[in-house]
Amino acid sequence: MLPYFTDIYGNPSSVHSIGRDAKRVIDTERAKIAEILGAKPREIFFTASGSEADNWAIKGVAAANRKKGNHIITTSIEHHAVLHTCQYLERQGFEVTYLPVDSYGKVSIEDVEKAVRKDTILISIMHANNEIGTIQPIAEIGELAKSKGIPFHTDAVQTTGTIPVNVKDLNVDMLSLSAHKFHGPKGIGVLYARNGRIGDNLIHGGAQEANKRAGTENIPYIVGMSTALQLAVENMEENRKKVQMLRDDIISFVLNNIDHVRLNGHPTDRLPGNANFSFNYIEGESLLLMLDMKGICASSGSACTSGSLDPSHVLLAIGLSHEVAHGSVRFSLSDENTQEDVDYLKEALPGIVKTLRNISPLYNGRKEGNNHV
Ligand SMILES: *Cc1c(COP(=O)(O)O)cnc(C)c1O
Repeated sequence: MLPYFTDIYGNPSSVHSIGRDAKRVIDTERAKIAEILGAKPREIFFTASGSEADNWAIKGVAAANRKKGNHIITTSIEHHAVLHTCQYLERQGFEVTYLPVDSYGKVSIEDVEKAVRKDTILISIMHANNEIGTIQPIAEIGELAKSKGIPFHTDAVQTTGTIPVNVKDLNVDMLSLSAHKFHGPKGIGVLYARNGRIGDNLIHGGAQEANKRAGTENIPYIVGMSTALQLAVENMEENRKKVQMLRDDIISFVLNNIDHVRLNGHPTDRLPGNANFSFNYIEGESLLLMLDMKGICASSGSACTSGSLDPSHVLLAIGLSHEVAHGSVRFSLSDENTQEDVDYLKEALPGIVKTLRNISPLYNGRKEGNNHV
């Protein structure tokens, strides 16, 4: 990325030669990203994040189709970039169906079909869930959407660069991705739109991105995203095998060595690097802090970091109680993790869980036979 801050720093909208050089870079990288996704260059729109791509896909189609209908179908386990966008549209008068999921976090195609109405203008269903890792049958849902003539968007932020993502194979009309989820820079993403057909603009102004997304392009980040995606795709199979082996090691260790614990998400249709557990009788947040003191960076399912004490909407949607959802922690692995990392976690985790349970009134109540959890 560095030369694009210092040498090739022109504004791609300028007529002079350094501007034209910058323009060529964007065209080249757009074509490379398009090829990886099975798309055409004019179907690739750069955005400032995965969240922007999700917002644009959904608000754009909603605004452009207001006269045609006002019904949108999505799921109850989407990322907040989709969920909060849909809730915003509800306040604007749109109707949204939030499909339920089963205990593994899977959407049923029959439920999608049953939810379709004459006035349905968009279906948006994520490719894989960011908390529990469950992968949805996107190609089949896409087939259904196509047969009904309804535009279909998928949030593929968790899958792009990790498992194969091809817009033709997935039967999608729109797809969001974000660079920082595959080792690219933060603050850059893509919205793919079939035939360049996208709803209304989200950002108005200059003529960038085929007149559809104003704002001077972030060339270093575009180059960083494109390069990261190429590397991820080149090494995908090898990385997937390695990461999956490490993850399965964690899963079998935890299930075999720690009591009162459950694995959340689908046993097989899940992201290679995702392991999400509920540890009964303890708070996920306390577990995170104690792991952090040992240099282990994990995440909880709940959104306490954002100042809310509500448990994760995803964990509630798969049927967990508030208490169990609060005791949930997610371990995310990438190809940069090693067996040593996993061994270190295996050594630290049981002791931390034991310590926390020893001071937990819920756990002690359970031992006295007052278990209502
Ligand atoms: C991270 C993530 C997003 C948001 O992407 P940003 O680039 O961080 O805005 C959206 N959807 C899913 C599924 C994600 O995991």
